[in-house]
Amino acid sequence: MQIALSDPEYGYYQTRDPLGVHGDFITSPEISQIFGEIIGLWCVVTWQNAGRPGNIILVELGPGRGTLMVDILETIKKVSQEFINALKVHLIETSPVLKKQQNEILKDYEITWHKDLETIPWEPALIIANEFFDALPTEQYVMTESGWQQRHITVDKKHNNLSFINIPFAKQQSPIFPNQISNAKIGSIFERNAIGEGIMKSMAKRIRDNGIASLIIDYGHTQTRLGETLQAVKSHKYRNPLTDIGEIDLTSHVDFEALAATSESLDTRVHGPTTQRDFFRTLGIEQRTKVLAAKAEGGQVPLLLEGSRRLIAKDGMGALFKVMAITPKKGKTPAGFELNLLGNQS
Ligand code: SAH
Repeated sequence: MQIALSDPEYGYYQTRDPLGVHGDFITSPEISQIFGEIIGLWCVVTWQNAGRPGNIILVELGPGRGTLMVDILETIKKVSQEFINALKVHLIETSPVLKKQQNEILKDYEITWHKDLETIPWEPALIIANEFFDALPTEQYVMTESGWQQRHITVDKKHNNLSFINIPFAKQQSPIFPNQISNAKIGSIFERNAIGEGIMKSMAKRIRDNGIASLIIDYGHTQTRLGETLQAVKSHKYRNPLTDIGEIDLTSHVDFEALAATSESLDTRVHGPTTQRDFFRTLGIEQRTKVLAAKAEGGQVPLLLEGSRRLIAKDGMGALFKVMAITPKKGKTPAGFELNLLGNQS
């Protein structure tokens, strides 16, 4: 998965812009500008609650085309000149193709790019990540008659393709598996995103030591559980993940409980996760949509309404996507997390 997505020459993200209707998949900021507007307002309120620091960095992990960041910045500009003057934008991106697009769309702003969080400046930080953690390589383990084994990928020479193979752990090398999956039946699959947890550690340390908050939005589950979620997508259709390596998108669902535990182990406060539906409704997506629709040209109205509907759909993105925030231990509860709404199918 790491090679398929990130190989410098052939990696999926290194060689293309995968987003949009004509690409392989579409993300919330590409569906509706209201997504970025509401996150922009969330940033303003969070900055105000932190005492309006005069120097702040706004960091985004995996910004794609830069659409979310533009929508956030345009919103902040409308609401608080003081905040826009106080902030500097830092983007974490590894794709040269997407970096170029971000550079283009954000040309009115001063931007600094980084490969990872380690090099961002030591200033109070607001960190945003939408559909970033799902794009990181996952590990898979399979319960066999002789216990847990790790799933690897091998070359099937006879058929000239790739196939999965389970490999037992060398003595004493078996990882410790979480209690939540202690009743795994033979054939069960457990996914663990060690790379994601590593990035979460850096993020949490940063929030603990000199941070304001981070906001993580992604598809996934609120509790650690068994089950395979590795998925491959090309042109909006599911594919076999072992075919067309480097040409198809590979992702897995985010285990929010694992990310929350990692963050809490570093002495931060975790808020949520809540569903995307509850988060955006609490922050007024429906009212905002009405205001925009009243001002929009006729042809735009159905698009606006449909965009918001998709983002909060009970049987779609609204339920599948979760939102989680991290603050320092003494941080205020960020907007949208005051009520623990999870499970309330309002
Ligand atoms: N957040 C965007 C794009 C999501 S796609 C949106 O919502 O539209 C995933 C993004 O993460 C892409 O920008 C991809 O290039 C970036 N990415 C993937 N792996 C990465 C890594 N290891 N480090 C930094 N960025 C990465």
